Parts: sequence; C-alpha cells; structure tokens
Amino acid sequence: MHHLELPSYLEQSDPVRDRFARLKQRPVVLEVKGLSKEFESSHGPVTALRDINFKTHRREFVCVIGPSGCGKSTLIRILAGLETPSSGQMLLDGKEVHGPGPDRGMVFQGYTLFPWLTVKKNVMFGLEMAGRGRGPAEEEAMQWIDLVGLTKFAKSYPHQLSGGMKQRVAIARALANQPRILLMDEPFGALDAQTRARMQSYLMEIWQNIDITILAVTNCGSGALGDNFDRDAGIFFQFRQQVVKQA
Ligand code: ADP
Ligand code: MG
Repeated sequence: MHHLELPSYLEQSDPVRDRFARLKQRPVVLEVKGLSKEFESSHGPVTALRDINFKTHRREFVCVIGPSGCGKSTLIRILAGLETPSSGQMLLDGKEVHGPGPDRGMVFQGYTLFPWLTVKKNVMFGLEMAGRGRGPAEEEAMQWIDLVGLTKFAKSYPHQLSGGMKQRVAIARALANQPRILLMDEPFGALDAQTRARMQSYLMEIWQNIDITILAVTNCGSGALGDNFDRDAGIFFQFRQQVVKQA
C-alpha cells in the first residue's frame, strides 16, 4: 500500500473525533517517509514494502494489520534497525535514525528471553548494559516486573514460565530500557486464544498506565487484538499492500 491513512474521523462519534483531533496535535514520535524494501531472492527481486508513509504520535497505539507475507515483519525489522531499507527514511523525534538503538524497544513473536537468566536478570540486562549499577538496575527491573504482574516470579527461569508469562517478561525487558517507541511483531501470535485475550488486556492496561507509544503488527483483524482494542482506544492501519513478486 502506498499511503497509510488514519481512518476518517468524520465517520466517528463526537467524543472519538475530538480525541483523534487532539491526538494529531501531539508531538510526532516516529515518522516514516517513502520507505521501500526490495529483497533479492532465488526467484528474482521481491518488493516487500513500497513507499510507506505514516506518523505515530506520542502515546498513540498503532496497529498495522495485514495478511501473511505483506511485509509486516520487514517494516518492524527496519524500524528496529535490524534491516536496512532500500530507500526512504525513518525519523525518531524528528531526527533520522539508522541501525538499532535503545530508543526502540522490540517484542518478537517467539520467546527471546535469555534462558540461563532469571526473570529479574533478563529485565536487568539492558539496564546494566546501559551502565546502571547493580542496585539501581535491580530496583528498576523489579518495578517493571511488578508492572507486568510477575513479582512472585522474579527468581524463576524462563522454562518455568508459561508462554504468556514469558511474553510479559519480554514486554518488561523492552520497557525497562525506556524506549521512545515499543515495536511488536505479532507478540501474542504463539499463544492460545484465551491467553492471547488476557495478554491483550494486559497490554492495554500497561499502555494506559505509562507514557509509551506502541506500534504493533498482527496478521488478522479484530481477533488479533481482542474486543477491548477498538477504534476508541487506539488507531488501526489497514496494511493493504500485497507482496509484489517479480518473477
Ligand atoms: P509478514 O511479516 O507480513 O508475513 P515479511 O515482512 O516477513 O511479511 O515478508 C514480506 C515479503 O518479503 C515476503 O514475500 C517474504 O518472502 C519476503 N522476504 C522477507 N525477508 C526476506 C529475506 N531476507 N530475503 C528474501 N525475501 C524476504
Ligand atoms: Mg511476520
């Protein structure tokens, strides 16, 4: 798809329209300009993204929805700095960024915790890397662990946790570095439907309680984010572009 447009707020009720108008006045955290990505494959070049443009405002919760293969992971990986775009720019707080950085937190679909570290040590990891002393890192980590409701499991190892709990640790670990934006690639895709629904509520609660901007991608519609994620709560982008394959 070429230009990601916000849903028309003319079609919405007065309170929701007002909220959108106010939201658009907030500072832009992330701006994506003319982002394109082509991959070379054995079948020839594959265009994963073509001229993507959008803005994410402070404390906005943006969800990009699209079918498998439409370029969602490519978009998230480029934003996280794990992949370089073929063309285009991304600006964080108005400044162009290249490569990964602590200003962008990432939660992947698969469980990416360090299996040899406890929950607390997993969350402390980035803080210690950033130069925090052990005491302060521990104290901060425990606050994030508390936020995701896992205080009692701080000394557990990842293999002792359920899938949903592991993803909560992953969220705590990403948030602990205080990123400007939290990037999520189908974060609850590997969970069963019931756990996914509970995780959606958790995420909404976290988002409502702290100053964080979230950009999540998922491959299906309402089911992927739950009934409690509606147009009132955040903003949906429909990612209409299908992959263009040039044989
Ligand atoms: P989604 O996450 O929406 O399922 P992806 O971003 O993973 O989609 O992939 C978009 C398209 O780009 C697909 O056609 C995929 O095969 C292709 N693609 C992704 N990564 C690579 C790569 N490293 N090399 C070649 N093609 C790739
Ligand atoms: Mg993907």
